[in-house]
Amino acid sequence: MSRFVYFFGGSTADGDGKMKDLLGGKGANLAEMCKIGIPVPPGFTITTEVCAAYYDHGKKIPEAAIPQIDEALKKVESTFGKKFGDPVDPLLVSVRSGAALSMPGMMNTILNLGLTDASAEGLARKTGNPRFAYDSYRRLIDMFGSTAMGCEHEEFEHEIHTLKQEKGVKLDTDLTADNLKELVKRYKAVYKKHVKDDFPQDPRKQLYLAINAVFNSWNGNKAVEYRRIERITGLKGTAVNVQAMVFGNMGGTSGTGVAFTRDPNTGANVFYGDYLINAQGEDVVAGIRTPAHIDQLEKEMPVVYKQLVDIRGKLEKHYKEMQDIEFTVQEGTLYMLQTRTGKRTGTAAVRIAVEMVKEGLIDETTAVKRVNPESLNHLLQPQLDPKSKIKPVAQGIAASPGGASGKVVLSAEAAVAHAEKHPGEAILLVRKETSPEDVAGMHLARGILTSTGGKASHAAVVARGWGKPCVVGCEAVKIDEKNQTVTLAGQTVKAGDFLTINGTTGDVMIGKVETIAPTMSGDFATLMRWADRSRKLKVRTNADTPADAQKAREFGAEGIGLCRTEHMFFGEDRIAAVREMILSTTTEDREKALAKVGPYQKADFVGIFEAMDGLPVTIRLLDPPLHEFLPQKDNRAGAEAVARQLGVSVAKVFERVDELHEMNPMMGFRGCRLPIVYPEIGDMQVRAIIEAAIEVKKKGKSVLPEIMIPLVGVVEELIFLKKRAIAVAEECMKKAGVQVEYQIGTMIELPRAALTADQIATEAEFFSFGTNDLTQMTFGFSRDDIRGFMPTYLKEKILSIDPFQSIDVGGVGQLIEIGIRKGREGRQAKHGQHLKVGICGEHGGDPDSVVFCHHAGMDYVSCSPFRVPIARLAAAQAALGTAQRDK
Ligand code: PEP
Ligand code: MG
Repeated sequence: MSRFVYFFGGSTADGDGKMKDLLGGKGANLAEMCKIGIPVPPGFTITTEVCAAYYDHGKKIPEAAIPQIDEALKKVESTFGKKFGDPVDPLLVSVRSGAALSMPGMMNTILNLGLTDASAEGLARKTGNPRFAYDSYRRLIDMFGSTAMGCEHEEFEHEIHTLKQEKGVKLDTDLTADNLKELVKRYKAVYKKHVKDDFPQDPRKQLYLAINAVFNSWNGNKAVEYRRIERITGLKGTAVNVQAMVFGNMGGTSGTGVAFTRDPNTGANVFYGDYLINAQGEDVVAGIRTPAHIDQLEKEMPVVYKQLVDIRGKLEKHYKEMQDIEFTVQEGTLYMLQTRTGKRTGTAAVRIAVEMVKEGLIDETTAVKRVNPESLNHLLQPQLDPKSKIKPVAQGIAASPGGASGKVVLSAEAAVAHAEKHPGEAILLVRKETSPEDVAGMHLARGILTSTGGKASHAAVVARGWGKPCVVGCEAVKIDEKNQTVTLAGQTVKAGDFLTINGTTGDVMIGKVETIAPTMSGDFATLMRWADRSRKLKVRTNADTPADAQKAREFGAEGIGLCRTEHMFFGEDRIAAVREMILSTTTEDREKALAKVGPYQKADFVGIFEAMDGLPVTIRLLDPPLHEFLPQKDNRAGAEAVARQLGVSVAKVFERVDELHEMNPMMGFRGCRLPIVYPEIGDMQVRAIIEAAIEVKKKGKSVLPEIMIPLVGVVEELIFLKKRAIAVAEECMKKAGVQVEYQIGTMIELPRAALTADQIATEAEFFSFGTNDLTQMTFGFSRDDIRGFMPTYLKEKILSIDPFQSIDVGGVGQLIEIGIRKGREGRQAKHGQHLKVGICGEHGGDPDSVVFCHHAGMDYVSCSPFRVPIARLAAAQAALGTAQRDK
């Protein structure tokens, strides 16, 4: 490391835009702008390697860097024609941090550095504007004091507030030059009180203290926390940019603004931004004065406006990306202070990518690589009106995206009753948690809010499956069912009052916020078409109803990867029959109950096969953790209904509920264990599947049923159930005189299944990784009970991400890889066949997990209908190599 400092200015620069690792994003882009002839105030960048060395040397700037910094400063002086610390016409500089990845708010900028008592006086004389000079000086003391020296910004604020009161004025701008001179005195006193030293009158000392402060901010709490949340690792440190100050507050021919080269909300190809005449940068952002729209600048400063429009075009052509820019006009001269890739909504990301291809700026592959799959959520969900003034009062876990506003109901029954009384009225279901008993009410609600549970809890999974906004685990929500109220943030909301949730962010708001319906624009379809050309993974959907299947097809699903048959029993009449089946003590009673359930199942399968016409449909045999289907102790009505159906007393029903009670239901009597103990249950389901397939085939449509057996841990379980399934299927086909092709496969949800996949694959025609359970069983984390420790685990970096959200590559990922390798070998050895492998846990819709599945060699991923486009794009990006996603 011999070069520590990179100069930029005039139309030359030592660095360029590609050197982000070394110069940080800001520094690299400033250099690049100089190189392409865009006017930038001269300056220099101290590299990220110096930051690393600073820490290696016990928080000291390496000696060898100092002459280079002094040298670069001289070059800035000669390029700009002013001298640092000159009492007559001083050069002032800004000092900013800038890492390779944008880390907003890591450190406040220090502006006006170089002002001292003497040079402030010089600046006042030179500009003939003492007010401007002393305003700049007092701002420097505030920024330098609070950013570099640990003073409290509030104390400076207190001083200006007091002075305004003393002078009887309202606005900062009402203070005169003399007032500001007085304020400088008071600010210096605040500074001295904290720093135990005078405000430095040597500009060079100011500069080096500021550089140290930037380096220190790299390991400040804010920056460390930001890197943790954004999962940013492997950076050397921050660069420091020292740049000549230009002033937008030098009168009517000066100004400052921020702009995007396209509209960041819609993506429209229009110049989008704000500016203020006679103001400094922070005034635009701080919202003290209302800025004007950039279009108006054409009238106020036509020459500058034309220059800006040219620069807008030049930057987009050069970077081939939408840019977020900052500029300042000093006495009629335009300077660009920053350019970087602009943040945008999902809607804008898609439109910009597609339009840039049409404009010839980028190719289709770049467009596909550029859009963050997760951001497609914006296009798929109703959104809360961004203009709403209602602010969030609490935050939970963002479980299913989109915005929902509705009248609060505190139980599923209340939701049903409300919907009957006021059909079409928006309701929001607020529960501690949800269970299958609540599903009818959940379905009627616009959104679901729970005070407990994580991303894989019942509420989250069901809501995501339906594309319904949902916030879970919002501990601030306290439900009082007795008084029919919810308290949050110290306020009480009655049932029937409006609450709003934002399932994209986890925010909860009191009151009603309007929603905007999603639109599927042509650009969206175009981008998806381009993505499909590249991807290797197929994308299926998890769907349990014909309506969901249809929706998923519209979003491009290529089959159903998981139809959870227990979800088909959500209707009140159906769940009663299922309870009757579970609670029966004799085979005879059970068969009676099954006879009621069978026709429902068959009708649903017919609907799904028709909707998926010719595409594969994986139907999983019943997998109800029993506790989810039993009437709970407090559900007397449910127990009475079952008692009536079974012709027994309510007490008897509760007795049976007690008998079936499990300490650990997720590891209890569920999955394939159920039809092994009660084979008639599996028989009924296989019969319904095959009869439905026959019926649809007879109508001339093609059907591809795949019967999937859940929670297999030993191959003998599969052998047992497969034998029965084949017998039932053969019987149905013989009776109907129609043959249908079907497959029998299994889920891999238990570590033992993954480890013995070679044996299991000799019996299974396909594998589908159930990563919800596989994660649960590998970590030993109950998927419904992680709220107590997961937030701490994430905060303390024990885990970098919730493994129910994104595949734990190091552990669960290994099991998947072993399962695929052994499974494929086992199938090939015994049958000479390729084993089809997919995933149907929640991870199938998580972009990072999709990338993992691609590399693991799966054939398909399966996810909720609303995540199908996200998975399609993620799969394409996996196939195309590293994604260049906009951050
Ligand atoms: C799984 O365990 O990943 C799975 C898809 O099954 P379920 O979520 O229904 O247990
Ligand atoms: Mg499972």
